[in-house]
Amino acid sequence: MAPSPRIDIAELERVELERALEALGHERYRARQIYRWVHRRAAASFDRMTDLSRELRDELAQRFVLTTPQVVHRDVSSDGTTKFLLALADGRQIESVFIPDTPAQTFCISTQVGCAMRCAFCLTGKMGMVRNLTAGEIAGQVRVLAREVALVDTPFNIVLMGMGEPLHNYDATMKALRMLADEQGLGLTPGRVTLSTVGVLPALERLAAEPFMPNLAISLHATTEDERDRLVPVNRKYGLADLIEACKRFPVKRRDRITFEYVLLSGVNDSLEDARRLVKLLNGIRAKVNLIPLNEAPGIEFERPSEARIDAFARVLAERGLTVSVRKSRGRDIRAACGQLIVEGTRPSAAQKMAALL
Ligand code: SAH
Repeated sequence: MAPSPRIDIAELERVELERALEALGHERYRARQIYRWVHRRAAASFDRMTDLSRELRDELAQRFVLTTPQVVHRDVSSDGTTKFLLALADGRQIESVFIPDTPAQTFCISTQVGCAMRCAFCLTGKMGMVRNLTAGEIAGQVRVLAREVALVDTPFNIVLMGMGEPLHNYDATMKALRMLADEQGLGLTPGRVTLSTVGVLPALERLAAEPFMPNLAISLHATTEDERDRLVPVNRKYGLADLIEACKRFPVKRRDRITFEYVLLSGVNDSLEDARRLVKLLNGIRAKVNLIPLNEAPGIEFERPSEARIDAFARVLAERGLTVSVRKSRGRDIRAACGQLIVEGTRPSAAQKMAALL
């Protein structure tokens, strides 16, 4: 009989780990100790868990595996932004980005390999959907990046704005957030997490009832149904009017606001008329607007508007009382900026496979 596959300890929430260890006859505090090793101290193997007895470490190695994404490559931008190419256990690759001093330290994390949403201006969308990440792979990116940039004991923010659509991989994303929030882990607070979404409405309704409630950012990008159908194709299923209604119902904490992201595409959605329609659309929502001038890339058929045009658009919003910011592109020289994350070729090389095994 084939041995039953070992459980990946990186996929377990703390309570699950406690149950698994209790079933093996161990005390609950052991689970807490191990959880700390995995999540806070980013131990690469059971052998490194030096305050556990040799017997326990051996037993853990027999019963469990501990999977951690492997750094295949890193690119450092002139502005300090660092893009990591990470290999997963099956050889698939994803990108995660460290963005320093925004003023906070921020990790931009992926939730899927590729993306099914196919927004017209986004490179990740060109990859199509390869697969969902597991909760352990999502949380694992944070573990690896915090270790690589030595931030484990410093507060940092997380934006779910890497590859993939988090609300299209709901359960794994929420489980990863719980794992990261655990006090024995990195102790991440909801206020430090921003989930960015095109607005998958059934999942947005579920999110509204979550105990761990991240900040919400909506990728709006257009002010009419037709225009949004073209730019954000999921709009054909979950339309703009319904999305706006869902945002009105969304339980935003006192003093908090929903961020509306709006990519500016020259001659497409950047007219003053668009800006005025945007103001009207957001009327009655506690909103702020984050304008993202397009990050251009080969294969993307749109252009970034001029600075003057970006300013004029922003001014219309500000004059009508909306809080508006223009996102600074970080890491554009290394293709780490919004919408520029793509992993070419889905077949891993032999070297990548090796790296994943080490
Ligand atoms: N799937 C999530 C997270 C993705 S990326 C979402 O769509 O919200 C974060 C933001 O970058 C989104 O608002 C996305 O629309 C935007 N973006 C994608 N491609 C871009 C590009 N080429 N230039 C600027 N912003 C882009």
